[in-house]
Amino acid sequence: MQNEIELRIRNEISEKPIFLISRLKDSEPTTLYFNNKDTSWVDTILQSITAEYDTEENMDEELKASVTVKRDSNSEFGEYLIVTGSVEGQYMASCVKCLDDSPQSFSTEFQGVYIHSRYENDPEYEEVDDVFIEDKVLDLYFHERGKADLSEALTEAAVLAINPYPKCKEECKGLCGQCGENKNHNNCGHH
Ligand SMILES: [Zn+2]
Ligand SMILES: [Zn+2]
Repeated sequence: MQNEIELRIRNEISEKPIFLISRLKDSEPTTLYFNNKDTSWVDTILQSITAEYDTEENMDEELKASVTVKRDSNSEFGEYLIVTGSVEGQYMASCVKCLDDSPQSFSTEFQGVYIHSRYENDPEYEEVDDVFIEDKVLDLYFHERGKADLSEALTEAAVLAINPYPKCKEECKGLCGQCGENKNHNNCGHH
């Protein structure tokens, strides 16, 4: 059962992924669930993944995530937000070899931390994309005066997990270099 704080946060960020850290009590993890069907900014992430593919066949495209958020603080970073979660999706892409529509899926886990944006311009953190906090190496993000954009961590996790060279099947035969025939479907006799 969702508790009151989870419900309130969910309502707050269903339209915009901006999460107000002060909504959480210190060190009390809260888990939030999202999918593209009821959260518009999650759908935006899915659309940006599929935008480069011009597919005709339809499938039930989906992006689902669970994110556990925990607020904490230490003397080095001040107040920060730890996010750990998983994201999985399925979508239609064009095979890089034969251009046929082909269903793709992925599933991944991520862990990150949002620290104050004043560190963003700190030379010490300029070239850094992860940081060691609470005995873990976490991907580094920045919150703007207590506002963390959860779509940053989710988008990065999804983009790193998808296959940049989608194929219809591992042994796809591709298109014929001479006549353009899809060799998976027809043997045109060329080599
Ligand atoms: Zn193919
Ligand atoms: Zn041919």
